[in-house]
Amino acid sequence: MKGVQILVAFVLLALVSSLASASDPSPLQDFCVAINDAKNGLNKQGNTSNQLGSKVTPVNVEQIPGLNTLGISFARVDYAPYGGLNPPHTHPRATEILVVVEGTLYVGFVTSNPDNRLITKVLYPGDVFVFPVGLIHFQFNKGNTNAVAFAGLSSQNPGVITIANAVFGSNPAINPEVLAKAFQLEKNIVNQLQSRFWWNNN
Ligand code: MN
Repeated sequence: MKGVQILVAFVLLALVSSLASASDPSPLQDFCVAINDAKNGLNKQGNTSNQLGSKVTPVNVEQIPGLNTLGISFARVDYAPYGGLNPPHTHPRATEILVVVEGTLYVGFVTSNPDNRLITKVLYPGDVFVFPVGLIHFQFNKGNTNAVAFAGLSSQNPGVITIANAVFGSNPAINPEVLAKAFQLEKNIVNQLQSRFWWNNN
């Protein structure tokens, strides 16, 4: 009897899933983000009215399912005038290549141990810069106008770890003694940072 019930459930499931795929409007949407896509179209200026003064609009496998297994993705980054910042972060699965199309960006990354060498440059429209996979990098708007950059990433799912949020805004919080020692800070400073970033993250 149990076997029959399982069989019926299986047949129903197969029927429902075949109906669902039959009503799929078009496979095109798996491969395209169009300018009339209110949320993901890259013609739209990102809203930089936030504490950092920057906004990343990603186009990865979440927005374009057809990118799955293809090893590539894209993003638009907007920066507010006078200090809009894409804060220090890393992509665990992708190298990033960035082109500035508007404004002036001070960009950089830091090499791994033991050198921790900082590589920086001020970029103008048309300039291209590479952030190697896994390295901590940032972009900062030095100019008095909006800045806009586009970036290609070598993974359909590059991932992003924002350093300050991960370290001081983890959920639950990392034991302050650990951070006080690691960052050579007084514990009250760690508590201050944690309350600020925990608030931001959660
Ligand atoms: Mn990046």
